[in-house]
Amino acid sequence: MLFKEIIGQREVKQKLLSLVKNDRTPHAMMLFGPGGTGKLPLAIAMAQYLACTNRQENDSCGVCSSCIKFGKLVHPDLHFAVPVMRTGSMSTPPVSDDYAESWREALLGDPYLTENQWYEALGAENKQGIINVKESEAIIRKLGFKPYESEYRMIVIWLPEKMNQSAANKLLKLIEEPPAKTLILMVSDHPDKLLPTILSRTQLLHVPPISDAAVREGLMQIEQKDQQMVEDAVSRANGNFSMALQTLRQDEMERHLFDLFTELMRLCYARDIIEINGWVERVAGAGRERQKQLIDYSLRLLRENFILHLNNETLNYMSAKELAFSTRFSPFIHNGNVHALVEAFNLAGNHIEANGNPRIVLMDLSIGTIKLLMQKAPSAD
Ligand SMILES: [Zn+2]
Repeated sequence: MLFKEIIGQREVKQKLLSLVKNDRTPHAMMLFGPGGTGKLPLAIAMAQYLACTNRQENDSCGVCSSCIKFGKLVHPDLHFAVPVMRTGSMSTPPVSDDYAESWREALLGDPYLTENQWYEALGAENKQGIINVKESEAIIRKLGFKPYESEYRMIVIWLPEKMNQSAANKLLKLIEEPPAKTLILMVSDHPDKLLPTILSRTQLLHVPPISDAAVREGLMQIEQKDQQMVEDAVSRANGNFSMALQTLRQDEMERHLFDLFTELMRLCYARDIIEINGWVERVAGAGRERQKQLIDYSLRLLRENFILHLNNETLNYMSAKELAFSTRFSPFIHNGNVHALVEAFNLAGNHIEANGNPRIVLMDLSIGTIKLLMQKAPSAD
């Protein structure tokens, strides 16, 4: 991780660079502050700078053999300790190394990874990870070896607040009497949950929220999206880049689902079987996950349209774009067909879930929708 790849945070970067340049690298350091601000990539960038054999004034060289290994997170003197949990058929409590491959993949895929995203990557989104005493013992063992290639042995402890009591006590001993030439880099969202004795022996560095300008620039670099969506994500993020990115991707996905749903409704209303066939082909090729999202999205918008039809605008939860479409569409969703429509979409969802052939399921759904949209509202409605 190069400093220049990290969004904003100029002052923090200068501070970290100057510690290394002035040979004042501490034994233990903690980057703390709100989530999504780049603490983890900043910690890795500092370690990389420390190990780089051709340091530049304000960044690692990016091309020496040490930097190449850092770029793939495989440097033998760089270690990680992160919260993990048992998954699958594991019989004993795991340590980070049991998930080393998943960790590298997740972190290289998104350096602004959140705790939840990490648990999702492990397929354990409903569980809580911890850092256990076995992990602390592993940290002590790793830092006890001579460095392989660089001058320092370095460990990044991500979310040390996830240590249990015995793990924290073990780590405290290490921080009290660290072996020479070690760098323990902790990255914490909640330092208040750590032992005060750990904090008092650690150099603390606050990492503030990222400026809006930097979040905007970062989003534009990663996702070339329209300006309005970017601004929306920036203003909702409050300097949290992970949040900004998630908002943008969520908005983008919703917009895509909106386009697919409204297109299908128009084609069904027009009874355009040829075009519907093209729609079915496209959606069938988009994968089961996306099809399930589309069914869920369609169910939500059908319900919203029914409520709008009942003239109950205050109960609506729609974006401006959805509302504009629904103002024209809602007259077609009424007491005479809403229940059957919801049933048809639910059934399609169940069939997709059960691995039904998506072309058949979606074509059945479309034909059913054509018939249901033709139904007139009951006169009493
Ligand atoms: Zn280098």
